[in-house]
Parts: sequence; C-alpha cells; structure tokens
Amino acid sequence: MRLDSGIASHDKTLALLNDPSPRRWQAMASYMFGLGWSGEHGTDGFIPVTALPFIHGTKATAALLVKHGFWTSTEGGWRVRNFAIRQELAVVTAAKKEAQRIGALKANCNRWHGANCTCWQDRAKGVA
Ligand SMILES: [Zn+2]
Repeated sequence: MRLDSGIASHDKTLALLNDPSPRRWQAMASYMFGLGWSGEHGTDGFIPVTALPFIHGTKATAALLVKHGFWTSTEGGWRVRNFAIRQELAVVTAAKKEAQRIGALKANCNRWHGANCTCWQDRAKGVA
C-alpha cells in the first residue's frame, strides 16, 4: 500500500490533529493502520466494523475520521476516501502477480529447456 509522502501537512491531517477530541492521535494512527489492513485483505479501501480492533480504532475514532473526511460511512463499515486514486486496487495487484508468475515460468523454461521451448505456455495455463 502507498502512504502519501505529504500526509503530515495535508489540510485534513492538520484539521484532525487540531480537533479537541483526546482521541485525535488514535484516529490518525488507525487511519494509517486501516490503509495497511485494507491492502493486506484486498478490500479496496473498505474497513468493516469488525476490523476496528485490528487497526486499533473504535467507533469514536471512526467518527473522527468521517468528520475530517478521511473515511465515509457505508453499509457495515467505512470506506477510505479516494482509495482507488491513491492505492493500487486488488484486481491490479492480482494482475501484476499473475504477470510475474508467467514471467518466472518463461524465464525458467528458457533457462532449463532452451530458448525454443514453449512448455511454459502450457504451465502458465495450468495444463502441464
Ligand atoms: Zn520448457
């Protein structure tokens, strides 16, 4: 997952950290933990209510993140705003992994069977 290198000085960040709530720092941390959690679980920015304990958040910190525009409320949880713009979607990650897998099959085939062997193509399809 990616973290915006300018996050410390963003308007949203400054507004959250100036919030009178004593939970503002916990909210900020859980936002970043939430990015990691979503990336790890391939949810494309969806944070279910059940994930809150794993990102060290609470409903109160979630409300702060909604208040300051980091998350939006949705059915069963929250969604990281602009996740699709800033992060790599799970489908893209999967496509990259598949391309790497096929690239490795082809490289090993060429290395062990010679440049003219095409058995990697059947392996890539799962035939061999
Ligand atoms: Zn081969």
